[in-house]
Amino acid sequence: LPNIRARLVEPATPDVPVPTGRIFTREKVDENNLGLSIVGSGSSFMIVKPSPDVREDGVRIVEKQGSDSGFSVLVELGNDAVDPPITLWVQAILRRVINYAKGVKVKSDGNGGLRFSVTKEAVDGGFELEHLGNLIQTELRNEFPKIGPIRVSFILDAQEEAALEPGIQSFVDERTRQIKEANEDSLEYFYGCTRCRSFSLAHACTVTPDRPAQCSKPWYQLKANAVLSPNDVYDQCTLVEKGKCIDPIKGEYEGVNTSTESRTEGRVNRVFLHSIFEHPHTACSCFQNVVYHIPEVDGLAIMNRGYEGEAPNGMTWTKLANLVAGRQYEEGAATIATAYLHSKKFLKADGGYNRVVWMTNVLKKTAGNAIPEELRDAIATENEASTLDELKGFLASRGRM
Ligand code: SF4
Repeated sequence: LPNIRARLVEPATPDVPVPTGRIFTREKVDENNLGLSIVGSGSSFMIVKPSPDVREDGVRIVEKQGSDSGFSVLVELGNDAVDPPITLWVQAILRRVINYAKGVKVKSDGNGGLRFSVTKEAVDGGFELEHLGNLIQTELRNEFPKIGPIRVSFILDAQEEAALEPGIQSFVDERTRQIKEANEDSLEYFYGCTRCRSFSLAHACTVTPDRPAQCSKPWYQLKANAVLSPNDVYDQCTLVEKGKCIDPIKGEYEGVNTSTESRTEGRVNRVFLHSIFEHPHTACSCFQNVVYHIPEVDGLAIMNRGYEGEAPNGMTWTKLANLVAGRQYEEGAATIATAYLHSKKFLKADGGYNRVVWMTNVLKKTAGNAIPEELRDAIATENEASTLDELKGFLASRGRM
């Protein structure tokens, strides 16, 4: 269904004198055939930040004043709804679209700087920096129709780059802090995604900083899409009003229930974000891991996509994935992101790591210090237990049975 709807969307074409498109992002330009090459200083940057004073599109070029050249790209967004976390996702898209023009590339020079290269053909065809500004504005607006005014600045002077660097760094630090410290209690909204709904009508993701998307998309990506591209045919993302917290341990919220009911057209009306029992989060098919209950030991097992062996109760990845995909399994299993292993709310209602009895070696290594110290030697992997009897023996030897 999304593929058909996508045909109805006609993206705008940048007003530039060379062919453009995603196909050129991996184009290699011949270093011996350049018409223009500028290398940024060690302070060069490519950054997107909110700037409420930007009221209309613009392209600004800060020319080289001193002896040293620079190359930095500053994209400022005037939309008041844009906050620092949103800019991180817009910046990820900027890094892609900036290389959409044939024969024009902005790449890392390998020493912390940026290198701007334009082939002789593109220069002869009339390509100038203003065109790159137009391309950035057009392609960002194709990705984010509600992005609002965009000012693109190219800084070609090394001294100016150095002067701007402290301000850029403090913005980056603040953005990192906001993303790191965000949690379910501090946010008014969570983020919904139904991209996978065409595979499963009973699936609708609700993503929070404490319960990352099962496919690994970062929450600020969903937020950027919900705010700046709410009608996207692929990434159908929404802001989910949290509403009243019904159960802080299970992670049940009035707003999440209402939103899930609406997005699944009544198929699912309750969701526990932090439990695999009663009303676990729904599953599509692109999840990274499955956590499930082993009744014989009343414990939880966690398996990652790509694991080729069998869990102690005979489960393989294929069996598990077929069981949970599209929410065919109503409770006792849930799909989770690898990053959820480090969440402070990791399976909080089910006992967290105290209830985990087996996990694949690769996941146990990834979880690392997130596993309480006293349990690190008491959770089996495929190296310690490959049958239920071995698992029972292992747990008994650790005083857990
Ligand atoms: S699994 Fe990922 S892509 Fe699919 S609906 Fe959830 S967040 Fe969206």
